[in-house]
Amino acid sequence: MPIPDSTRQIIRERAGFLCEYCHSSERLSASRFTIDHVIPASLGGSDDIDNLALACRRCNERRYNFVAGFDVETQQIVPVFNPRKQDWAEHFIWTAGGTVIKGVTPIGRATCDRFDLNDMRYPEGDSIRSTRQFWIQTGLHPPSLDPIET
Ligand SMILES: [Zn+2]
Repeated sequence: MPIPDSTRQIIRERAGFLCEYCHSSERLSASRFTIDHVIPASLGGSDDIDNLALACRRCNERRYNFVAGFDVETQQIVPVFNPRKQDWAEHFIWTAGGTVIKGVTPIGRATCDRFDLNDMRYPEGDSIRSTRQFWIQTGLHPPSLDPIET
């Protein structure tokens, strides 16, 4: 069942118009962000607002229907970040001036890898890391409440 526009708007406002995974700003995107099922619909996740999150197209595509990822540091399979149950700032920090998201917990690291939050398969100039450098110049990135490595 399609998610009603009124519910979409509530989700966008709840998220502060940020992708709840990579913290991109919807205001810097050419298109509206998508609605992600935290527990994927294909695994029985509901359309209830407590199971929905705002996600940029990039994160939504990479998320696919994965609910877990691998943390190389602890060598464990752990759940991916759950924006309904967890606090972004406890699992991630911005490094390199706000161009790179670094996971600081097993969940954070596994999510960075699973969602490819830093586009590490591509050279810097052709990656989301480069795009974030432009966002920083707007003053809208990284989000003001996010932890930043100094
Ligand atoms: Zn995203």
